[in-house]
This record gives sequence, structure tokens and C-alpha cells, in this order.
Amino acid sequence: MKITIAIDGHSSTGKSTVAKQLADHLGYIYVDSGAMYRGVTLYALKHDLISEHHFDKKQLIDSLPKIRLEFIKENEKDRAEIHLNGINVEKEIRTMNVSEFVSPIATLPEVRRKLVMLQHEIGKEKGVVMDGRDIGTVVFPDAELKIFMTAKPETRASRRFNELSRRGDEITYKEVFDNVKERDHIDSTRKDSPLKKAEDAIEVDNSEMNLEDQFHIILQLAKDRIAGRV
Ligand code: C5P
Repeated sequence: MKITIAIDGHSSTGKSTVAKQLADHLGYIYVDSGAMYRGVTLYALKHDLISEHHFDKKQLIDSLPKIRLEFIKENEKDRAEIHLNGINVEKEIRTMNVSEFVSPIATLPEVRRKLVMLQHEIGKEKGVVMDGRDIGTVVFPDAELKIFMTAKPETRASRRFNELSRRGDEITYKEVFDNVKERDHIDSTRKDSPLKKAEDAIEVDNSEMNLEDQFHIILQLAKDRIAGRV
């Protein structure tokens, strides 16, 4: 039996790392729902619909039908990467500039409705691991396994800072720390689909955990659910 696995949690808790490991191990599809919100944000930035000084919500909402997001594999063995209107933007959506504006954009109900429809479509056959903020609460409330990931903000910010620095991005630890805190605040307090732990989600605090231990703990939970043991 194939199940649906929902992985939600705070920013930079390593949700996508464990979601990819699980999907590879189980032969499931991995879906990065954050990449979709980032894709819409990149579109808004490119069309000058949002900046530090303005946010043209109406124009963005009117433009939604023109925003086409798809996960496409370049080669059979590669992981699917996000394309915005036919262009691979997998790298471009990970910059600090996109991170700065994504949470305000993700508060818009019209944006959420469009992306949740796409998420339902991709996940309808089960056999999917999807990570995000509202997967276990709103997108797939019947998911057989729900994980809620968290870690200390300092730990999360230094992990993300190291990742971005390795990539050559010129940022400071403070900028990353402030962004992580700010996104958590906006994501948790918005009206539509706020970030919160689903009642039946299992909380994993990985502040003191290494990646291997975390993977084995979550994989065991998934195997138990697949076998119908819990
Ligand atoms: O997962 P990631 O950090 O890439 O997500 C970027 C942002 O997209 C989040 O901070 C949040 O504002 C938004 N998001 C969301 N709902 C999801 C996934 C992401 O609101 N399911």
C-alpha cells in the first residue's frame, strides 16, 4: 500500500532533506511545496509587483492565470526541478531576495488556492512525500503519516547560512537569522492556513540530531504506517 507523507515545520529545519531521503528510499514522488510559493514570488519580483516599498496584490492576483509552475525531470534519473513558465528556476528561487518576499506572498488566499489545487493534482495517487507548512493541516489532512519538524532558531539559521555561503551567496549570519525568524512569524500568524502542528502529527525536534539518526527514526515511522502497524 502506498501512503501520503506530510512533512511540515518551521523554516530551515531540514524538511526537504529528510523528505527527499524518504522519497528515494520508498520510491515515492517528492514534492517541495515551498518551491511553488517561491516560484510565484520570483514571478512577482521579475514583474516588479513586490519590493521593499510596495506590494501590488491586485496585479499579482490578476496575473495568477499566467503563472505556470511544473516539476520537470531533465533526465530520467534526475530529480524533478521546478519550472516557471517553461524555464528551470530551481536555483533562482533559493536566493535571499526570494526568501525575503515569499512569506507575504504566501499569505494571499488566491495564491494558496491555486497552489493547493496543483498539490492535490500531484498527490492524488498517493506515494508522495510533500513538505511545506500546511500539508498535514490543509492540503492532505488525511495523510497517513504527518511529521512536524522543528529546531532551535540559532541552529536552523546556522545550517541555512552555511548552505548559502557554500553556494557563494554573499550574506551575513544575522540576515539569515532575521529572515528565518520573520518567515516563521508571518507563516504562523497568517489567517489562511497558518503554520501549526496538526493534532495527529509527530513532532521531531532535530536540534541535537544528526541526519542519519533523523532519517532512520522517520523511515521507521513510515514503514510502520505502510504496514498498517500504527
Ligand atoms: O519551504 P520553504 O522555506 O522553501 O518555503 C518558503 C515559504 O513558502 C515559507 O516560508 C512559507 O511562507 C511559504 N510556504 C507556505 N506553505 C507551504 C510551503 C511554503 O506558505 N506549504
